[in-house]
Amino acid sequence: MRKAKILATLGPASDSQAVIESMITAGVNAVRINMSHGTEEEHTATLERARAAAANLKKPLAILVDLSGPKIRTRTLKDGLPVELKVGEEFTITTREVEGNGQIVSTNFSGLPEAVEPGTRILIDDGAIELIVESETATDIMCRVEVGGWLSERKGINLPNTPLPIASMTEKDEVDLIWAMSKNVDYIALSFVRRAEDCRVVKKKIKELNKRRMGRALLVAKIEKAEAIENLDAIIAETDGVMVARGDLGVETSVEHVPVYQKRIIEKAVANDKFVITATQMLQSMIDSPHPTRAEASDVANAVWDGSDAVMLSAETASGSYPLETVQTMARIIDAAETVKPGELRKPVKFSQPPSGRTSQALCKAAAYAAKEVMTEKVAVFTESGLMARRLSSIRSGLQTFGLTTSIDACNQLALIWGVQPMYHRAVQAVVDPQESIGNVTMMDLSSSVGTDATAELLMVGETTLLEAGVVERGETLIMMAGRLSGHGLSSSVIVWTIGEEIPRR
Ligand code: PEP
Repeated sequence: MRKAKILATLGPASDSQAVIESMITAGVNAVRINMSHGTEEEHTATLERARAAAANLKKPLAILVDLSGPKIRTRTLKDGLPVELKVGEEFTITTREVEGNGQIVSTNFSGLPEAVEPGTRILIDDGAIELIVESETATDIMCRVEVGGWLSERKGINLPNTPLPIASMTEKDEVDLIWAMSKNVDYIALSFVRRAEDCRVVKKKIKELNKRRMGRALLVAKIEKAEAIENLDAIIAETDGVMVARGDLGVETSVEHVPVYQKRIIEKAVANDKFVITATQMLQSMIDSPHPTRAEASDVANAVWDGSDAVMLSAETASGSYPLETVQTMARIIDAAETVKPGELRKPVKFSQPPSGRTSQALCKAAAYAAKEVMTEKVAVFTESGLMARRLSSIRSGLQTFGLTTSIDACNQLALIWGVQPMYHRAVQAVVDPQESIGNVTMMDLSSSVGTDATAELLMVGETTLLEAGVVERGETLIMMAGRLSGHGLSSSVIVWTIGEEIPRR
């Protein structure tokens, strides 16, 4: 089983159910809908296609909606055509509504003139074009072109090291979030997070808009600003997971620092039980070519070895010419990388760390030690919101983890999480506290629904599900575990179990 997951961005190159199905079959576990492009109708159609594709294949698929955040952009150009900006020429960015051309373009951020001063560096299109501010009025910023290039419509504007008086969520983000939550998506990513407070704001809104019986959409803080690097510990404490958003990170800081930050972000995220996605330009050359460069293959493998839960494809699958080949290539690179066991490269993070005082951590470590002792590579975890499976993943024990759940939502959400193979089962009725605290999980009506002992029933359900999925064989020993399920059966349990063993009954 592949442990690191593949997150693919959907776009015009992957806008048919057939292409999405082929990408899922090739290894895609999660898809990203980027709210920076397209209309609500288009996003709804994309989401429905993705869900239909997964349903047709009977595979879990996580859906991540990426909110644009306070991204500053240029607006439209005359006839939608690119214009060339030449070195040394004057170029104006304005907050007025104008039809853009080779001398002037509008921006979506009305506070831009206030934020700049003569000498400020303005980067456009991921730093491809560089301008230096010469003067400004209340609406216009007059610049000199330092590095020229072709400017297309709606390109990103970055002002490295210039703090911006801008809210963490724009009005568009609010609307997009309401849409995403109404569609019950699994992950919400926020772009241009600067501090922990940005995460608190979105998480609060996610909780308010939550439609799930248990659990909720998880927040991904995109780390792409120098301020976010400065506030990394506080952001990680507040968010559910992070994305190493290397595109903007390389523009907002500098390219040579991206690998350093990548290692630091992944290590801190994993050490704090948070999932982490490494993103952008992973197989960039495959936008136009059916083969990756050696450097790209190494980059994907290194992101896996660093400890990423998932590696992301952007333009490669959204607008490239080879979306399927790119996914197949990424899957092969991960498979090859994973033939090296984690311990051969680095110690699993959690075993070298001080005790956390948490029950879930104790159970997960106990499961990992028990597995080592009885020489199994497999653990099945009963998890209703998905939380316990995430905890188990975050200790990076390397065990093949089956997340057994009665929740379709948890099943889909877990598809993105490192080392977890989510499995849906129907047989047990469960109710979980909406706060999804491990301590408040309650398994209900086990005995009454089956007329027998709860533990026995749960073990039987687990065993049957695993056997039917063909992931275990009779006579095979594995670890079965559950969180603190009060009152019944596998309450805070780690059980060494042999498939086909006679089930103990009270
Ligand atoms: C990035 O900047 O690396 C990123 C993932 O964000 P986006 O694709 O939205 O620019």
